[in-house]
Amino acid sequence: MYNHYQEFLTNAIDNIKTAGLYKGERIIVSPQQAEITLSSGQKVLNFCMNNYLGLSNNKELIEAAKEALNTHGYGMSSVRFICGTQDLHKTLEKKIAEFFGTEDTILYAAAFDANGGVFEPLLDTEDAIISDSLNHASIIDGVRLCKAERYRYENADMEDLENQLKAAQKNRFRLIVSDGVFSMDGNVASLDKMLLLAEKYDAMIMLDESHSAGVVGKTGRGVTELYNAKGKVEIITGTLGKAFGGAVGGFTTGKKEIIEFLRQRSRPYLFSNSLPPMIVNAGIKTFDMVSKTTTHQDKLHKNTNYFMEKMSSLGFDLKPTKSAICAVMLYDAKLAQTFAAKLLEEGIYVIGFSFPVVANGQARIRVQLSAAHQTEHIDKCVKAFAKVGKDLGVLK
Ligand SMILES: *Cc1c(COP(=O)(O)O)cnc(C)c1O
Repeated sequence: MYNHYQEFLTNAIDNIKTAGLYKGERIIVSPQQAEITLSSGQKVLNFCMNNYLGLSNNKELIEAAKEALNTHGYGMSSVRFICGTQDLHKTLEKKIAEFFGTEDTILYAAAFDANGGVFEPLLDTEDAIISDSLNHASIIDGVRLCKAERYRYENADMEDLENQLKAAQKNRFRLIVSDGVFSMDGNVASLDKMLLLAEKYDAMIMLDESHSAGVVGKTGRGVTELYNAKGKVEIITGTLGKAFGGAVGGFTTGKKEIIEFLRQRSRPYLFSNSLPPMIVNAGIKTFDMVSKTTTHQDKLHKNTNYFMEKMSSLGFDLKPTKSAICAVMLYDAKLAQTFAAKLLEEGIYVIGFSFPVVANGQARIRVQLSAAHQTEHIDKCVKAFAKVGKDLGVLK
């Protein structure tokens, strides 16, 4: 049997390679930080990590993780409701709710699980999910697991959202679902308009703040802070794997009845292991840090503005951003690949994205800023962009 299947897979893999869609993995031999070392020995500046607040290799978080290993052990060997809940888990859930101004929080092994386990228990056949066309894969999968009727609106298109809401008036409950920040353009969900539409058409809102929490808003509370809408969104999901330390873990935070019900019925919570204490304690430390001061958030905002200013004055075509994601538009897939490869030779690690990850003819290089970057790092990056831009005829 396997012979046939092996041949089938080998062909499928070859097709991926021929189409230029094969994803290789570059091996890093240092911790995740601004300057990393590749297995080739080359040292490069990292501009493609989700380490927005620069905490992935933060000494205080490492100490908090070590401390919990000593006081609370290594693994939980249980799901939460059997014997997998420590005092630390309850503390972290409370701190996350305080940070977002919500009522309660439920932890998951990943945001992928938070999104995978949120729709199916909450909504049924007579309900409606109205979802942005560019929502994250985990939202799409979560929606697939749910029996509710599905409506889809074009990315951040509020007119289309209104049309879908009108169509969904026949349903019992309506939930609008959107990423807070969309990862390819760095644009933000128009929460102000979404709230008005939700009011008008009697709908609830769920925001996935994975790319926006820690980043968007003056103090990094996310899209609800940007639009002055703390506590007004029923459900927020997020990750500990990006701005908040970058290790692993996800959460859903929001209305207390929703969270309570998820603890009873959400399958990735009920049937998957509890987060290990070292991750949870480092999470507590993270939320303490980003709640008490805005040092990291301020530095990220400063870095992003600085990069955008320098790049636009050079004449690069940039998507307007409200996050730490900066899309440098090149429009041509081959050019984007070559550009990224040449930047790596200059010691700048970024990724070129093209179809099908972005629309056809919308190839770009995505640059992600971090509080871990120093001004010299950004200067070096901009200088490399200028050089390669001229070499490849992108800049005059
Ligand atoms: C990264 C991301 C996730 C997945 O987060 P994990 O915790 O790594 O599973 C989910 N949703 C969005 C919008 C993301 O950007």
